[in-house]
Parts: sequence; structure tokens; C-alpha cells
Amino acid sequence: MSKRDYYDVLGVEKGASKEEIKKSYRKLARKYHPDVNKADDAADKFKEAKEAYEVLSDEQKRAQYDQFGHAGASGQGFGGFGGGAQDFGGFGDIFDMFFGGGGRSRDPNAPQQGADLQYTMVLDFEEAIFGKEADITIPNEETCGTCSGSGAKPGTSKKTCSHCNGSGQLNQEQNTPFGRVVNRRVCHHCNGTGNIIPDKCNTCGGTGNVKKNKKIHISIPAGIDEGQQIRVSGKGEPGKNGGPAGDLFVVVQIRPHDFFIREGDHIFCELPLTFTQAALGDEVEVPTVHGKVKLKVPAGTQTGKTFRLKGKGSPNVRGRGQGDQHIRVKVMTPTQLTDRQKELLREFNEIGGNDSTDEQDGNIFQRFKKAFKGD
Ligand SMILES: [Zn+2]
Ligand SMILES: [Zn+2]
Repeated sequence: MSKRDYYDVLGVEKGASKEEIKKSYRKLARKYHPDVNKADDAADKFKEAKEAYEVLSDEQKRAQYDQFGHAGASGQGFGGFGGGAQDFGGFGDIFDMFFGGGGRSRDPNAPQQGADLQYTMVLDFEEAIFGKEADITIPNEETCGTCSGSGAKPGTSKKTCSHCNGSGQLNQEQNTPFGRVVNRRVCHHCNGTGNIIPDKCNTCGGTGNVKKNKKIHISIPAGIDEGQQIRVSGKGEPGKNGGPAGDLFVVVQIRPHDFFIREGDHIFCELPLTFTQAALGDEVEVPTVHGKVKLKVPAGTQTGKTFRLKGKGSPNVRGRGQGDQHIRVKVMTPTQLTDRQKELLREFNEIGGNDSTDEQDGNIFQRFKKAFKGD
């Protein structure tokens, strides 16, 4: 029985990429693995695919095979693949080998989707919260309007490549120590497409695409957050051979704010209070992204106390409600006191001002004093 061509066994083109070879072998291995396929010829098919893969996945072995075929393969002493019928390895091993995988068809004439584009948009803190309409300009390639992407001058058309007769491949006969072999190569006259353009379009020079700055209108939804992206369908690079265009992804970055910090839909800030405001209570104005809000600070407010302004945060980007603003109090200890101020504070202390904390707040002083008892 004569041996089948390894490329035919795996069902790939001669110029197939490593990924395509891997992908194809994975498919066959899954189909014919003796653990899953009980057909009589499954084991042989599996062995055949494995052998083909072992040669074509190895750069050196593949080069030798490409040059000399099976004769080269066994003549160079790397034959004897497969071994016994038990030599299949675990099923899991096969799939570990192919972790990742993927890869698109490399047929140069097949429709191909255009590449996705990414654009980073930097927003101010408030812009992210309230949303924004913006026009962005991106350098881009577009399908040539003169030739509609064909690359041929209007009124002319592509012709079948005369060197490869449209196959995209050239056969080269070669004499080798093992006899006469046929070596197939990608046709360099047509780059494997099988077509040539005798009269190239003047606008695009035959590529079918033109470089153009593209203006795109973007609607940034209110409540968008750092790192989130907006997908603008079909605004990426144009497809090839009639394939669809890629998508544009606008990734959002937000400039930090001096006073506010955002976490999800909530906004956090720190409110400085003088110790008299904190002790006596006060009504203070607090900034929010929605404007100033009056906040009543009760007498005896401590550092760390938080207040919540309901609905004063960011709207949820998916329309699920509205975040709050959380305000954390920080009592500022006065510095640079005048003599008169110092005198008053000493008097305040003497009349028991610092003992007059209520029970709950006094606890920390009691625990503090207790800590010295063991001395
Ligand atoms: Zn050709
Ligand atoms: Zn053109």
C-alpha cells in the first residue's frame, strides 16, 4: 500500500501554518482516537494522522519531507513512527498539546474579516459620570472607492495567473538521491491567490485599500468606568475579498479627580472639619458632582464618621440605578495657635473639657488608661 501525502492526510495546504496543522490534527485525533472511535479503521487512521503530524509539526522533519517526500522521511532515519497499536498516549495529552490553538484559514482568496482597532479615550471625572458625545479621528484603511476593493482599474478585471494556472501553487520537479520528486511551492507571481491584476487601479495601486483618516462619532454612556470599552461595530479595518470589516473598540481611561474617588457607581470623599465644628456641630456645604449639598454635622462628630448622600454618585452605566456619595469626616487638629488660643484651650482642659466625652467615646480613653495598669 502506498503512503498518502502527509498534507493530504491532515487535509491542509502545502503552505499551511503550524496553527492550521495543529488544528487539523486535533480534529482528526478527536475523531479517530481509539478511546472514542470503535470503527475498524479508526486506529489506522489515528496512527496515520499522528505520523503526519509528527513530521509536519517539526520544522526540520517537515523541510526534509517537503524536499524529498516519504523517501526523504524514511531515508533520513526518522521513520518508524507510531510503534505498536497501544502507542496512542492518553486522550488528555492530545488536548494539553493543543492548549490555545485556533488560527484562520490562510487561503488568500477566502473572505477575511478586517482587523479590530483599539482607541483609547481619556475622559475627565465628570465626563465619565455624565457621558459625552465625541468625534474621534483615527488613521485607517478603507476599501478603495475607485475599484471597490478589487485592485483592478475600472473596466478591467483580474486575470488568472498564467504561471500557476490559477492554482496559486507551482510544481517543481527535482532529481534527488531517492528519485524524481515533485515539490509544490506557493506561486510567487500571484502570491498564491491564483490571480494577477494586469491594470492596477491608480488610486490604490492594486491593493484595494486606501489610507484615510476616519472621523467616527462616539456616544459615551453616562456612568462608564475606567477600563470599560465601547464596541463600534464595523468601524475597524476593512475586510478582504468581500469579508466584513473589523470592529472599533474605544477603551476608556478616566483622569483622577482632586477631591473625589470613584468606586463603581459610588463616589467617596473626605470632609475636613475644624475641631470646633466637630465638637459643636455645624451645617456645611459639601461639593458633589451634581452640585453643592448642605450637610448637617451633629455636635460631637468624630474622625472616621461617614455620611451618605443618597443618589449623589454616578448613574449605573447599564441603567441600574444611581450610586451614592460617601463622605468621611476628618477632624483637623489646629496648629500654630496664638498665645490667647492656647490659654483658652488650657482653661478648657482645666474645667474638664476633655473629660466631657460621652460614654461611648470615652471608652477609648478608659481602654487607653487601663493599658498602663500593669506597669
Ligand atoms: Zn500564480
Ligand atoms: Zn483601487
